[in-house]
Amino acid sequence: MSYDVKSNKAEDFINDEEILETLDYAEKHKTDSALIESILEEASHCNGLSHRKAAVLLACEVPELNKKIEDLAKEIKLKFYGNRIVLFAPLYLSNYCINGCAYCPYHGTNKHIARKKLTQEEIKAEVIALQNMGHKRLAIESGEDPVNNPLEYILESIKTIYSIKHKNGAIRRVNVNIAATEVPEYTKLKDAGIGTYILFQETYNKKRYEQLHPTGPKSNYAYHTEAMDRAMQGGIDDVGCGVLYGLGTYKYEFVGQLMHAEHLEASHGCGPHTISVPRLRAADGIDPSLYPDAIDDETFAKIVACIRIAVPYTGMIVSTRESQKSRERVLALGVSQISGGSLTSVGGYCEEERPEDTTQFDVSDTRSLDEVLNWLMRMNYVPSFCTACYRSGRTGDRFMHLVKSGEIANCCHPNALMTLKEYLEDYATPDTKKIGDALIEKELLTIPNPLVRDRCIQYLKEEVNGKRDFRF
Ligand code: SAM
Repeated sequence: MSYDVKSNKAEDFINDEEILETLDYAEKHKTDSALIESILEEASHCNGLSHRKAAVLLACEVPELNKKIEDLAKEIKLKFYGNRIVLFAPLYLSNYCINGCAYCPYHGTNKHIARKKLTQEEIKAEVIALQNMGHKRLAIESGEDPVNNPLEYILESIKTIYSIKHKNGAIRRVNVNIAATEVPEYTKLKDAGIGTYILFQETYNKKRYEQLHPTGPKSNYAYHTEAMDRAMQGGIDDVGCGVLYGLGTYKYEFVGQLMHAEHLEASHGCGPHTISVPRLRAADGIDPSLYPDAIDDETFAKIVACIRIAVPYTGMIVSTRESQKSRERVLALGVSQISGGSLTSVGGYCEEERPEDTTQFDVSDTRSLDEVLNWLMRMNYVPSFCTACYRSGRTGDRFMHLVKSGEIANCCHPNALMTLKEYLEDYATPDTKKIGDALIEKELLTIPNPLVRDRCIQYLKEEVNGKRDFRF
């Protein structure tokens, strides 16, 4: 087995020897100021970095240079994503699962957790509850169980979700986080109109992966690691990767994550649409303090900054696993999408109290969506519910091309403002509406093209009069 970025075999493109050599190289150069300065100079052109160079930045132990790494991450974040933050919520469909993931309470051998699978009627109720909060983008989540949650169930659920129009509400993009599957199944997901197919690698370290996934279909490291290739072969343009930080050593995971992105770019002409950075959380029977590779907030922030620098065109997602404080820090360093008002239980959005019995893991940020928006806008971020790119066919390499050329700035900002305005008109508390309306006034001035700006102003007026769903 030798390193080959274009190979279709997991152990070649996530090559253990290459990762260990990279880590060794990074360790040797962690105080090499001249080398680190030259890597930062290369990265300042915003064309990304190889996994080896990015690993040196992650290892860097020179305080002034660590400050420069942070500054560059913030600069790249602003250049490509402006001050927009895209909002979404997870929707748990079923926690039936036949896998044995040691860190997840849904594992098949957990006999005391309540098992629940939503009916289509229950999904409708959940979606109405989510629409009533103001959500437009969902990520559906499900355990792996071919009998209880076959693909047909997922496809039917997606259809149900898109069909519900309650008052002015609508779910316009459904991203899907379900277990690895086969090429024809991915094509069916594509045909169902999904946004991003999300699958976390959990850990790129094969040995660790096999310890943590002792049973079930997910125990096959190669099958899981090659899933994004099958998804892309099946026609899915936008895939979302992620490591569950805390399972393996973070430096190894970071290099593996970047090698995966390089592989997708080399083999399919397009890297991942998003990279998520979840951290292990406490859950039923799961005590994160027993995992020796847990990372502190400082290290977490540095990982986010280095990912931002290494893959400037890839969106970065942080969930409510993180606290308000931690989210605040990583928003500036590179995160472009966050969840808000989330519940990680099956059917939780319709229940009066925060339900416990089917919860996947504890969330840190328990604020409502309105509170999250209010907080974002007080920090001068523009919350966005935009779904325009994917609905206009700007996916995969077409999306990447637009981002790279900078043309995207003339659509993203007005689209963010118009979807924010919908939220303010339909769902906001009075205080959030007041802050939001003032923010929109100010942000309109930053739309570069005057014709686009004028049209945006016109559309915003029409939204006040009850029209919805404008986009550039
Ligand atoms: N069942 C699908 C799979 O196996 O890929 C995906 C759905 S699962 C609900 C989504 C993700 O939750 C997993 O990929 C894992 O990274 C994450 N997760 C599981 N247990 C967790 C925990 N205790 N803390 C934080 N995240 C966890």
